[in-house]
Amino acid sequence: MRIGLAGAGLACAVIARELAMQGHRVEVHERRDHVGGNCHTERDERSGVMLHRYGPHIFHTDDDDVWAYVNRFATFRPYVHRVKACVNGRVYSLPINLHTINQFAGDAMSPQQARAWVTQRSTLANEPPCSFEDQALRTVGHALYEAFFKGYTRKQWGIDPKLLPASVMARLPVRFNYNDNYFAHRHQGIPESGYTAMVARMLDHPRIGVQLGSQLGQADLGHFDHVFFSGPIDEFFGRELGMLPYRTLDFQRIDSDGDVQGCAVMNQCDEAVPFTRITEHAHFAPWETHRRSVCFREFSRAAGPQDTPYYPVHLVEGNSLLQRYQAMARDEPRVTFVGRLGTFRYLDMDMTIRHALNTAQAFQMRETVCAD
Ligand code: UDP
Repeated sequence: MRIGLAGAGLACAVIARELAMQGHRVEVHERRDHVGGNCHTERDERSGVMLHRYGPHIFHTDDDDVWAYVNRFATFRPYVHRVKACVNGRVYSLPINLHTINQFAGDAMSPQQARAWVTQRSTLANEPPCSFEDQALRTVGHALYEAFFKGYTRKQWGIDPKLLPASVMARLPVRFNYNDNYFAHRHQGIPESGYTAMVARMLDHPRIGVQLGSQLGQADLGHFDHVFFSGPIDEFFGRELGMLPYRTLDFQRIDSDGDVQGCAVMNQCDEAVPFTRITEHAHFAPWETHRRSVCFREFSRAAGPQDTPYYPVHLVEGNSLLQRYQAMARDEPRVTFVGRLGTFRYLDMDMTIRHALNTAQAFQMRETVCAD
């Protein structure tokens, strides 16, 4: 069978690999000049630091199979993500943990006391929580919500947190101990040679062809028996119903001759600060040493048709436009929409790989049944 894949990010790289292993001829078309999608990494010429070109990517998962899978294509170095947050001129530990609460209250509370402190300040707005704000008020209470989440979230998503679903807030743990690991998963790490090298190894197979600077769209379907599309689902249909809402990021680079902030990510939670966070990429590779450093300020805004979409925006009230595009997608039996943009879901890397593995397996089973 001749399979076409639009995009050379994680989703398509995994599907390409799996189907090539099953004997299919696979063509990957990537419009950018590199593979790796938004987890693309490259060495910075000036500092030698490995840059996460489209923002930081930390691999974390509880899925043993996915962890084993990525370790086949890259050497992962242990990395524990510890984020700091700047609020009103002070630096705090994130995610919200006992240290954050004690820093915020200027106290030395025990876990039990901190729980009581938060409970006194929390309100059960809606039960079960449906919005980001409901979830925040329930889990961290009013004072911490105002300080750490309200302003940051308005900057990041461009809308009131009352309109965002609770699932966005639920991404972050809240802890009544001093564990400041940003993620709660058992496996966490960063590939020593970067994500692009890992994806390039996935695609390195005699039955996989990769064309960079090449876009595969609706008009090319006739060349393939099946197409996997990892671009924006609305773009596939020429945005004929209108554009789905995405957030894009602008990065402002800051070069320095030494360590700038002492950590990989410093969130800026005050709404008056126009950017959401500063990332210092040397800290994503603590096993390397560099004399020079480079940071990026991240500015979030609504994506226009020419911008790179990063985050699909979901609302509590749902999205009828998305439903209409999904209905159109169901009428395309020879196209499967995959990845964060193809499925319009806020997928982390491990979930993207899990879905890609499942998708490839389901495709193969369907083909085997049809052949029988
Ligand atoms: N968030 C926040 N303040 C912070 C960190 C996160 O309000 O200091 C909110 C924000 O709405 C963000 C969401 O929590 O989109 C999920 O955070 P996460 O770190 O998972 O975002 P990502 O790294 O995917 O941008």
